[in-house]
Amino acid sequence: MKLTVDDLAILGGRPAFAEKLYVGRPNIGDRTRLLVRLNDILDTRWLTNGGPYVESFEGRITELTGVKHCIATCNATVALEIAIRALGLVGEVLIPSFTFVATAHALQWQQIRPVFCDIDPKTHCMDPRSVEAMITPRTTGIIGVHLWGRACYVNALTEIAARHKLTLLFDAAHAFGCSDRGRMIGSFGEAEVFSFHATKFVNSLEGGAVVTNNNALARKLRLMRNFGFTGYDKVNYVGTNGKMTEVCAAVGLTSLEALNEIVEVNRRNYEVYRENLDVLPGVSVIEYDPTEHNNYHYIVAEIDPASAPLNRDELLAILLNENVLARRYFWPGCHRMEPYRTLYPNSHLFLPQTERVAAQVMSLPTGQTITPEIIRAICDIIRAAFENAGEIRKILEEKTAV
Ligand SMILES: *Cc1c(COP(=O)(O)O)cnc(C)c1O
Repeated sequence: MKLTVDDLAILGGRPAFAEKLYVGRPNIGDRTRLLVRLNDILDTRWLTNGGPYVESFEGRITELTGVKHCIATCNATVALEIAIRALGLVGEVLIPSFTFVATAHALQWQQIRPVFCDIDPKTHCMDPRSVEAMITPRTTGIIGVHLWGRACYVNALTEIAARHKLTLLFDAAHAFGCSDRGRMIGSFGEAEVFSFHATKFVNSLEGGAVVTNNNALARKLRLMRNFGFTGYDKVNYVGTNGKMTEVCAAVGLTSLEALNEIVEVNRRNYEVYRENLDVLPGVSVIEYDPTEHNNYHYIVAEIDPASAPLNRDELLAILLNENVLARRYFWPGCHRMEPYRTLYPNSHLFLPQTERVAAQVMSLPTGQTITPEIIRAICDIIRAAFENAGEIRKILEEKTAV
């Protein structure tokens, strides 16, 4: 397909797609096997509280990651909260600002200050030099985030944590099925947290997990997940309700069975995007190290305003007109969201790379519902927009002037 000026919706053409294309549209496993499991759950009337599906979901996670313990939860935010609490973090904890806001909220929720560190613009992961620079006498821990599924600087963070006697935890919400130097993500630091939210690589509708090799920590986390119950009528610990339901575990198990298939679709999509976008001026798609396990779940393109004819936000507006709902993850950075921008108004002074990268990246639709044909059409829209950049910019300026 070769688009002409008149084809672009923003110039008066019809949208290229009749239906909206979303980033993070859920992948779904085998429906028949799922329905068998759901019927079984209804037949046995064991809907939650330590049932067999949660147990086997946790078992599969430990097998696939090689970690000793998996504590499945209702979502990853609660998993982060109980991991932070079980590890005794207080005071200040270092995290990247360039992450989903839950990483920060899980700390602030329990009166711990998230201290925002800058990223390495090459990897989008927290820069260990920035981490080291932000340590104060009140710092008790570091939460590394494996952004887009690419391992953050695990070695350097481990070394810094050891030298300063800090607790190291990882937000691995993006990184299920990914590896670092050949070792599956899950076994680094004191613990790692996965998300199985509907929009993630593997999903259980809503869901999350803490994984750890530490026996005592695992025991504490299990108590915290279930109100601190140690037996019938016996509570020994302060806890919350962080349990995963049997239905969620059944969806999760079915999703895990489709794991290889989803990676293949994601990888194919990623390659088509790269082929068609990397040839455009000022556009680059992030790289995944081919020597590692990757889930290829995120298609992240950087639009360099110095060399691309249109900037990121202009491209988003053009794509939106064509029913392509690309997203600017993770703009504007946690430090520019409330309550953080009011509580810590000077954070941006330490985050130049975060601010620059957050203004240049966009996430594009992928997953089971996106075909190579759709991707070529999306890339064609961007190419045609670049070719007509002058005219389009004028229209966009008129629109925003009104
Ligand atoms: C999705 C996500 C979370 C939160 O996961 P939920 O399961 O939705 O609570 C936390 N951190 C990051 C980096 C995420 O992308």
